[in-house]
Amino acid sequence: MSENTVQSELIHERGHEAMADAHLQEAYRSSTLRLLSQRLQAKSEVPGFERLRERAHELKREVIEHLDRYVEQFASNAERRGGVVHWAATGEEACAIVCGIVERAGAKEVVKAKTMLGEEIELNHALEAAGIRAVETDLGEFIVQLAGERPAHIVAPAMHKTRHDVSELFAANIGSERTEEPERLTAIARQALREMFRKARAGLSGANFAVAETGAVVVIENEGNIRFSTTAPRVHIALVGIEKIIPRFADLGIFLRLLGRSGTGQKLTSYTSFLSGPRRNGEDGPEEMHVVLVDNGRTHALADQKMREALYCIRCGACLNACPVYRKIGGHAYGWVYSGPIGALITPEFVGLKQARELPFASSLCGACREVCPVKINIPDLLLHLRGRAQEQTPAPKPKRSPIAERTAMRVWAWVMQRPWAFALGARLSRAGLRFFSQQGWIRKFPYFPLAAWTDGRDFPMLAAKPFRKRWKELHRH
Ligand code: SF4
Repeated sequence: MSENTVQSELIHERGHEAMADAHLQEAYRSSTLRLLSQRLQAKSEVPGFERLRERAHELKREVIEHLDRYVEQFASNAERRGGVVHWAATGEEACAIVCGIVERAGAKEVVKAKTMLGEEIELNHALEAAGIRAVETDLGEFIVQLAGERPAHIVAPAMHKTRHDVSELFAANIGSERTEEPERLTAIARQALREMFRKARAGLSGANFAVAETGAVVVIENEGNIRFSTTAPRVHIALVGIEKIIPRFADLGIFLRLLGRSGTGQKLTSYTSFLSGPRRNGEDGPEEMHVVLVDNGRTHALADQKMREALYCIRCGACLNACPVYRKIGGHAYGWVYSGPIGALITPEFVGLKQARELPFASSLCGACREVCPVKINIPDLLLHLRGRAQEQTPAPKPKRSPIAERTAMRVWAWVMQRPWAFALGARLSRAGLRFFSQQGWIRKFPYFPLAAWTDGRDFPMLAAKPFRKRWKELHRH
């Protein structure tokens, strides 16, 4: 991974660009709201959802605290079932291992199922450099690959694209007819990919879970492309981040119930595949199965007693959907493959805090991410911890002296806040004045400096008709 592939320092600039793009704003707003409300509905149908979350947290804690033991157990069980296990300390090593396996298989094409780890280590570039064509087979990944972009969301890589965008992309790259019918667009992609599944001699997948007790890699999906990619070609390679281990087969029930519901509001995704070893007599499947266990910064996170909690993540994407910052600035503003609250935690761990210093600060710490996380990661707490580390390691440049207008405003504010009568009078005058700009309880645009800058990127709520002091008094009277 070259340094310039991580562009987290551009988060403010890219965030502003995204906020000025009405098309993008609508795409993120509608998709994240839909996923969030589906999650809420799915959660309400499961009695004891909170207990499941607590249990999942405990299980992940158990694994991460004893990761060395569980990884060894997984590796020896995967080998016992005929798999070949490879160890990669870095992304470069993982890429070299994968390229080597594909070359030995005599494959010129690889069909790839969705893998964020593959994005993280820039596997497609490495394959391309080795003269191997990588074809993304997940519909969202296929779309972003055609667009030459990175995924905009952990679960929904093409969240930022509308049907119109996809239609134009397909027409330009595949030569298909222009259509905005989802069924037709899916059929076009299917047709383009079917031939690749038939031809490719090697298939690659990620892993949602890796079961230490059995050595099985578990992958979930809705489209069926993972089954094709892992079973049709002669060789299957599974890229597995070492934090994906879970202890026992029986624990899967807990994680599967949480993952689908938290990510997309589904009870269960359409397909759950358990991949353990190459095919045996009388079975379908690949002749060779390789598992590449990848560290690439995970043990760095493990070394920090507090940050290791970030490794509990099961990549459901719920924290992105709930995050008011992600929903406004979108996934690409974060400048690397992982975005949203979890991206702000793991990017600095994986690529170094120096390169991703801005990310832990790009949060309002409202706690919405913690509320929805199925494994109960205390994301705001970890963000604060990272901010502290960022300050110690690379102190922020000394702020410039604030402009005189700002200093005067602060002095007036301090004077008012110390005098309740002045505060009450100020609130009354503001309420009367703001009424001229308000529409349905919101002020969309302040016409004058300095407040105009506030409404450039967000709305301002109208002051409550009845002040808090008055309501408090009434409450006590009753
Ligand atoms: S941090 Fe939690 S909510 Fe966010 S992607 Fe990971 S598991 Fe899901």
